[in-house]
Amino acid sequence: MPLGTQDQPLRVAIIGSGPSGFYAAEHLLKQDMAVEIDMYDRLPTPYGLVRGGVAPDHQKIKSVTKVYDKTASNPNFHFYGNVEFGSDITHDDLAKYYHAIVYAVGAQTDRKMDIPGEDLPGSYPATEFVAWYNAHPDYRDFQFDLTQESVAVVGLGNVAMDVIRILARTPAELGKTDIADYALDALKESKVKTIYVLGRRGPAQSAFTNPEIKELGEMEDAEVIVPPDDIALDPLSQAYLESGIDKVAVKNVQILQEYAERGDTGKKIKIVMRFLVSPVELLGDENGITAVKIVKNELYKTDDGSLRPRATDQYETLPIGLIFRSVGYRGKPLPGVPFYDRWGTIPNDKGRVMTEQKDGEQVVGDYVVGWIKRGPSGIIGTNKPDSVESMNMLLEDVRAGKLLNPSAPTRAAVESLLKSRKVRYVTFDEWKRLDEMEVQRGEALGRPRLKFSRIADMLRALDKG
Ligand code: NAP
Repeated sequence: MPLGTQDQPLRVAIIGSGPSGFYAAEHLLKQDMAVEIDMYDRLPTPYGLVRGGVAPDHQKIKSVTKVYDKTASNPNFHFYGNVEFGSDITHDDLAKYYHAIVYAVGAQTDRKMDIPGEDLPGSYPATEFVAWYNAHPDYRDFQFDLTQESVAVVGLGNVAMDVIRILARTPAELGKTDIADYALDALKESKVKTIYVLGRRGPAQSAFTNPEIKELGEMEDAEVIVPPDDIALDPLSQAYLESGIDKVAVKNVQILQEYAERGDTGKKIKIVMRFLVSPVELLGDENGITAVKIVKNELYKTDDGSLRPRATDQYETLPIGLIFRSVGYRGKPLPGVPFYDRWGTIPNDKGRVMTEQKDGEQVVGDYVVGWIKRGPSGIIGTNKPDSVESMNMLLEDVRAGKLLNPSAPTRAAVESLLKSRKVRYVTFDEWKRLDEMEVQRGEALGRPRLKFSRIADMLRALDKG
């Protein structure tokens, strides 16, 4: 009997419920064949980084979840929240119930700077701060010492911009967002006055985009300071901008130049943009960091034409008590799934999982989408074509009969396994109830929502009915 008919629907498990997982589900459900999708997430709540990563003051971006809700409303789609891949359900289990497994787990850890002092108290990956202020249950009990007046953020990406805004916004600005309640309370008491932003390359090589750097200059009581030495362009960057191939970089530099000209207008919090500098050491002791030693860099052109930083012999020390490295996310290996450590991704060929990144063989039935496929790059929408590419490979394999051969391809069988293991899974309808409760709790405070941040509280609220 051919796969994809009413009698034998194509059954696919998607691990992870962020944008890439939902775009993969959407593409499969659009096909002219019978498909059943079961989406798993280790949290009771769906949407991945849209809920746990997108900054709370970027509410509009979060409305993309309406598209995911539409996918979830398809009767052939089921959500199993609060189910951890690898422990509650393993790869071998899934192979009994599904023809294919799609990994959509994102990049769950961070890159390091690899400098002395990086593990001292007061030094954190930006990803932890982001997860904390977004009410991620794993991070809700973290504490950041916001009594410090000087803070550094390393990196010039959009995540760095998010972290800076959350540190620099007034309680009134933050009070209009869905930031976690405990983070709002902590930030209300914040003593942060200076935020050094440390970029290893120059203004023309910034990874942030135009709206994000512009937004930094539009806050109530914070302003951007760009020292004249830092905005000065070296000849290589000047030539790059004049070539006109990178309009985003041209506009970024223009906005930074405007900040440099504007100077200090007396707002309380100063965001000091430093370019062509790299942290080389964090100074301090077991009580915390006290300073960051930075080296001045210069740019040089590599063989492939890109401009890379190279350290000079000029050093400087900035007194700080807190530092967030925002130098990129990184994928984590999953039990029973190949991993390419160098890139922090699952080895794959256009989304088909391979045993090795180079010269490997296809792992039949396994596919990958999103950041765990291509690395942590791009905006939410980038994931759509990326997921479509992987799912087209899956569909090709359906036609070629090259998938798993499950012994119990039914939802009832999966649910009976989960129940036998006492896994309290959360359905999409239950998530919608949590969602309603969060919105209601928020309304009372004039906020878009007040998030649950403990899994036990979510389950208790659901079980109370
Ligand atoms: P990113 O855009 O890749 O930026 C990483 C930054 O870290 C770059 O400035 C990079 O500099 C720097 N860096 C890397 N290694 C470093 C090191 N050892 N020392 C010093 N600096 C180092 O990553 P991201 O900010 O984590 O964002 C991830 C993705 O999510 C991006 O595509 C981003 O646009 C997207 N995102 C979008 C939004 C939005 O649309 N509003 C918000 C958040 C995130 P080099 O350029 O020199 O490598």
